[in-house]
Amino acid sequence: MTEDPRRRLPSVTRLLELTALPANRLTVSLIEAELARERAALKENAKPHSEQELVRRVQNAVARSGPGLTEVLNGTGVVVHTNIGRSPLSELAGSMALRAALGYSDLEFDLLGGRRSSRQDHLQSLLTLLTGAEAAVVVNNNAAAVFLALVTLAQGRQVVISRGELVEIGGSFRVPDIMAASGTELVEVGTTNRTRLSDYERAIGPKTAALLRVHPSNFQIRGFTERADPVALAELAHAKGLVMIDDLGSGSLWPLPGEPDVASRVRQGADVVTFSGDKLLGGPQAGIAAGRRQVIDQMKRHPLYRALRPDKMTVAALRATLWQTLVEPDKIPVRQMVTADPIALRRLARRLLAQLKRRGVSASLRAKGGVAGGGSLPDVELAGVAVSIDPGARSAADVQARLRQGPVALLVQVEDGMIVVDVRCLPAKRISEVADILAACLLH
Ligand SMILES: *Cc1c(COP(=O)(O)O)cnc(C)c1O
Repeated sequence: MTEDPRRRLPSVTRLLELTALPANRLTVSLIEAELARERAALKENAKPHSEQELVRRVQNAVARSGPGLTEVLNGTGVVVHTNIGRSPLSELAGSMALRAALGYSDLEFDLLGGRRSSRQDHLQSLLTLLTGAEAAVVVNNNAAAVFLALVTLAQGRQVVISRGELVEIGGSFRVPDIMAASGTELVEVGTTNRTRLSDYERAIGPKTAALLRVHPSNFQIRGFTERADPVALAELAHAKGLVMIDDLGSGSLWPLPGEPDVASRVRQGADVVTFSGDKLLGGPQAGIAAGRRQVIDQMKRHPLYRALRPDKMTVAALRATLWQTLVEPDKIPVRQMVTADPIALRRLARRLLAQLKRRGVSASLRAKGGVAGGGSLPDVELAGVAVSIDPGARSAADVQARLRQGPVALLVQVEDGMIVVDVRCLPAKRISEVADILAACLLH
């Protein structure tokens, strides 16, 4: 009779010793979980893992349970990448958020008057300056801004929207669902490809509260299309005593072909324009509603506002980002990456190529289009450059998966069996680290 292999399993103490991990509640419970998994597998007559393998597993489990999120280097060329946190903050915005987080600040305190104030005051003047609107209110994300606008301005009444704008923005933001949740009744007009002013006009009745325009931010309808002119639509709303709500999604605070800019929409007569803080603006996750003072004040006074208001780190980071938009826009990473000069990108790609060659990895340069991403500029391809690497003996998909699993993950794309690393969103000062990660993965 052979001995039950479960009796040969190392103890928790032995694994703590071998891994050189500190004995705390977290490491002990991760070791116990690993041992329980092994015991269950052995009970089903699985082949025992070596002590060395158990040590490796525990170390991986501990690495994945650290106090921080895993850092990702973005080699995809998608600037506002939804899955990896959208906009990287500027140095200034990040340090202002950290300062607000670590200490006390004048978040809701008027230091001159010694009185309570509003956290919105920190953003008000910058936002009105940048958008031309009379007033603005900031909440946690753009979905919340749209929701607050609908609840405040149209709950229990009807909102008219074009069938071409009933969009879904990734996952759970679907315009019809948001409208249902806000207690407003959706009135669809026109068709998927063509909606005229007269379609809106015919749908307006005694229960109508607002006209809603939604920027179809992540797709394009081409061909036989027509959308009502925003100025005419706002005029129609006002003539009928309705509110004009314009959800821009990303929006832009600087003129950018292919993306509606916020100031123009305000000028064209929208009563509320909503947009995200962490798409092309390049700030923290936030939703901004800019518009007529009377309308914005109503939104701020609604009881739901309290549930949606931004925290101090967001206020600090957004204030810094708005300040930089006015004073030093070139220091905002999203802006740098979207407007990156193809010649500078080529230079960066050459540097990565040279570093890879030095490490024995053969690679070549190729032209590659980047995208703004995150529901911005869906139709615009940004001219860029990538490094293309032959994965050798492994499959490209295998290498791509391994690159995701290191202590710092590197996201790359696979095209025609090659590993493609777009340099647009890689920080220049970390190029040699990128080369190290690639070399370690390809050569070992
Ligand atoms: C992205 C987007 C939203 C949602 O914004 P979040 O900041 O993700 O909440 C809403 N509407 C449009 C048109 C969008 O593009």
